[in-house]
Amino acid sequence: SIIVFGSINIDLVSKTPRLPLPGETLTGHSFVTAPGGKGANQAVAIAKLGVPSYMVGRVGGDNFGRELLASLQAAGVRTENVLVDESISSGVAAIAVDDNGENQIIITPGANGRVDETDVERLQSVLKILSRPPSQRKGTNSPPSQGGLGGSRPPSQGELEKSISPPSQGGLGGSILLLQLEIPLSAVITAAQVAKAAGIQVILDPAPAQNLPDELYPLIDIITPNETEAGRLVGFTVDGRETATEAARALLQKGVGNAIVKLGAKGVICATQAETFFTPAFSVTAVDTVAAGDAFNGGLAAALVEGLPLRQAVVWGAAAGALAATKPGAQSAMCDRPTLEALMAT
Ligand code: ADP
Repeated sequence: SIIVFGSINIDLVSKTPRLPLPGETLTGHSFVTAPGGKGANQAVAIAKLGVPSYMVGRVGGDNFGRELLASLQAAGVRTENVLVDESISSGVAAIAVDDNGENQIIITPGANGRVDETDVERLQSVLKILSRPPSQRKGTNSPPSQGGLGGSRPPSQGELEKSISPPSQGGLGGSILLLQLEIPLSAVITAAQVAKAAGIQVILDPAPAQNLPDELYPLIDIITPNETEAGRLVGFTVDGRETATEAARALLQKGVGNAIVKLGAKGVICATQAETFFTPAFSVTAVDTVAAGDAFNGGLAAALVEGLPLRQAVVWGAAAGALAATKPGAQSAMCDRPTLEALMAT
């Protein structure tokens, strides 16, 4: 199983002829709402690939929160451990995109900004349940610590068994925790500590770009920055394969197990303790690369829980990222398993 501990946002996207000046009111061409948030996007990417996906995080007590939960559930993501925080709005990204494709974005974290130790406790309870052999997995969830939880009811034992694959594996050997940086950093660090203590692998997508404390790196099995994020972490410009290789090695020096630098259409550099290798991007016609990075992380994690080696998992990530780039939107751009396999077979 894969557990995603992170953000859940609604994107409110207005198309405008140009971006507004301060104090100016513009008339837009069109408007759409779309579920997003790096955490939720990654959880959807995983579920769409047919791998059990558990979301832990928060939405607000507004209509957006209900819509966000429904869309996660429709994609097959388990939301029993998403807290509905009645005291605040859902996370919102208000986005203007002009005729030249330039954008202006205001992100208000809302409920995502409230994620704290109590959410890590829920994460811990999920990990505890997933670590039991399937026959003993009764009552998957701890009672809500505050407010109501997203799921309408706890799943039956049969449902749980069905959802946890491969059932023969038992224990947490087959589990991975995915983290990003759209929730408070203190919660990210505590979540990584809890996972490490439980012996489960941690993948950190250090996005959006920010500096990280030294103590976090040794808790990370795989870090997956893009060029901008890698540059921020290592303190030099990362632009292409050569500097990405240097950055990946520098990240290993900081204590991560493996470092994967995502270079968009230029491919991926991966540094492990044993070797550094390059994986080319799949050749596709990109229409919108929004959430390509989230798709990559979903594909990577899905392959790893299925027991594939890292080299092959990076190929899954690259294929999922490429496919996401061929479709508009975030969660709507995530591919299913047959589509992924078809691209990899080319
Ligand atoms: P982010 O979205 O985090 O900035 P990237 O843009 O590097 O990350 O995209 C993540 C991955 O998705 C890339 O490493 C690559 O494998 C794939 N990808 C993204 N854009 C393209 C593209 N135009 N063509 C092919 N693959 C792409």
